[in-house]
Amino acid sequence: MLKFDRQHIWHPYTSPTNPLPVYPVASADGVRLRLTDGRELIDGMASWWCAIHGYNHPRLNAALQEQAAKMSHVMFGGLTHEPAVKLAHTLIDITPTNLQKVFFCDSGSVAVEVAMKMALQYRAAQGSEARTFLTIHGGYHGDTLGAMSVCDPVTGMHQIFGNALPSQFFARRPTCRNDAEWRDNDIADFRRQLETHQHEIAAVIMEPIVQGAGGMHFYAPEFLRQVRKLCDEYGLLLILDEIATGFGRTGTMFACEHADIVPDIMCLGKAITGGYMSFAATLTTEAVSELIGSNGGIFMHGPTFMANPLACAVASASLELLLEMDIPNNIGRIAKGLKRGLADCRELPTVSDVRVFGAIGVVEMREAVDLAVIQKMFVERGVWIRPFGRLIYVMPPYIICDNDLNVITSQMVEVISAL
Ligand code: PMP
Repeated sequence: MLKFDRQHIWHPYTSPTNPLPVYPVASADGVRLRLTDGRELIDGMASWWCAIHGYNHPRLNAALQEQAAKMSHVMFGGLTHEPAVKLAHTLIDITPTNLQKVFFCDSGSVAVEVAMKMALQYRAAQGSEARTFLTIHGGYHGDTLGAMSVCDPVTGMHQIFGNALPSQFFARRPTCRNDAEWRDNDIADFRRQLETHQHEIAAVIMEPIVQGAGGMHFYAPEFLRQVRKLCDEYGLLLILDEIATGFGRTGTMFACEHADIVPDIMCLGKAITGGYMSFAATLTTEAVSELIGSNGGIFMHGPTFMANPLACAVASASLELLLEMDIPNNIGRIAKGLKRGLADCRELPTVSDVRVFGAIGVVEMREAVDLAVIQKMFVERGVWIRPFGRLIYVMPPYIICDNDLNVITSQMVEVISAL
């Protein structure tokens, strides 16, 4: 199996001819991945932020099976169904009240493309020529061309794809941490960019409070409040990409709640189906949808698998589970465990920073780690952690117990000490 995989199957972010090693997994249950050789790994990644309720969850399995017995898929052009309507109801209930319109799509990157297209069509309907997005450095929004164009130009993929990407405006990344005192000049560059380019800007797009794959930065909620204020002053739409942060990860249902602000367009993905399948949604306001729809306007996007009933059904079941959970309490418990467990990393000479926010724990190294080497060390110690660059980070399923969390953090301390 491994030989065929290596010869024929591409894996993410690795060489197609000399790929990094992969580990064959046979099954997964709760917070454990079971490899084909019988070894069990405690999962620190929730499969890239998604599997918030753990694997093989009986209620998610049941939702999927019940829906499969009715219909797995029908096209969404000209048809609708209860799973989509039910899920849209819940999403409208749990997101900020101004967001009343739901566009279902296939993946996070597509949700971002959809958000950008909504903003472009909105601006066009306003009679504006503005076609460029303003964002901040350090962001990550996905791997499609539009989404890549607003990823950080240095840590992102701009060097490889160059001018195939639309060129966007980038303001300085906030330097105030989420827990630090606010400094007014943190917003100065963003304000300057807005002043200078206001007539060219289609919308502002950013991740709220946590910048994920662009560097795992946590920034001050005040920055987001200031961004919202400036967008209002200049009459610009604010797109928040909650794909990684949404559904409880930071201790509130959505990260924008830390700043007590609301976006005009919100992208959701990843944990939306509890990690069961690829699915996403882009939500917006009546005002945006009214203007796009004015003068017979139609919104030009419609994926084949839009509002896939299986995905909608499992998403509704996942949200039910989430709504039964005391989010602040449980995420607070995980945050406490991560803080306590990772504290010893601070003393290590190879470590430049340790930070925790919600159920996200990050150890930033001074140098990039050798992924193949460190991955093997973690697997040998029974934990699943997948670092990138200088970042060794975890965001476990919310159901992780204190003991398993302790195993993860103590193995991180051991492995990092041994580097
Ligand atoms: N936005 C953010 C903030 C993300 O973290 C990701 C995925 N890492 C995406 C967009 C893209 O999502 P997907 O991989 O599902 O296309």
